[in-house]
Amino acid sequence: MILTPDNYYSPEANREYLSVSQYKDFCGCYGYPGCEAAAMAKISGEWQEDVTTALLIGSYVDSYFEGTLDQFKVMHPEIFTQKGMLRSEYKHAELMIARAEQDPMFMRYMSGQKQVIMTGEIAGALFKIKIDSYHPGLCIVDLKTVQSVTKGYYVADLGKVDFMTYWGYDLQLAAYQEIVWQNTGQRLRVFVDAITKERHPVPMLIEIRQNRLNEALETIRFNIPRILRIKNGEQEPERCGHCDYCHDTEVIRGPIYSDMIDLEV
Ligand SMILES: [Zn+2]
Repeated sequence: MILTPDNYYSPEANREYLSVSQYKDFCGCYGYPGCEAAAMAKISGEWQEDVTTALLIGSYVDSYFEGTLDQFKVMHPEIFTQKGMLRSEYKHAELMIARAEQDPMFMRYMSGQKQVIMTGEIAGALFKIKIDSYHPGLCIVDLKTVQSVTKGYYVADLGKVDFMTYWGYDLQLAAYQEIVWQNTGQRLRVFVDAITKERHPVPMLIEIRQNRLNEALETIRFNIPRILRIKNGEQEPERCGHCDYCHDTEVIRGPIYSDMIDLEV
């Protein structure tokens, strides 16, 4: 199957190819646990994740930089009030965009080829990526709207980690770097061009160290064989018991004692 902008997110493409977001559906990252059952239900089309305002704000900013904001507005009438004005959350997204545009270096890194699709193979899985801003021979740039760039997130047994580690952006960009290398023979530097959602948005350009990318790629490689067995129907997906999908589909099989409840940590 040849991927195009039109079929990139199609159920067929998601069955044939693994992507970073599908990988995270299965395995999660520090910021959220994966759920194999939910991942499979998304692939089959049986279940869809809620579209939250936070997600839509991110998409609003993304689509502006892709040059597709007009289509986005047509597709999402819910971002307007009944009087046809932008809702305040999206007015704030406009402020984030304006703040990013004030910064020449932010804009230079965003000025590569937009939404470049490439495919390759990682640990036996066909893998698809879509790069926000690709500068051939130079670097790979991903745009992120984040709550804060300075906030530390506490992870048990690891301590405080930055937002990149917490949300698995190192995993994402490690996969991008690998697939670009497979297509071009060049291992490019990778950057996150971040703009915060704070009242006073802050732009920041962050490079990910190569040792972090190597480690992240190893993690992905380690987890892929199990994902493939599940996608191929050779292994039953496990339910996490805590996510929206598990809540939506839980069936009581009989009473349990309270000390048997699988406690969240
Ligand atoms: Zn679950």
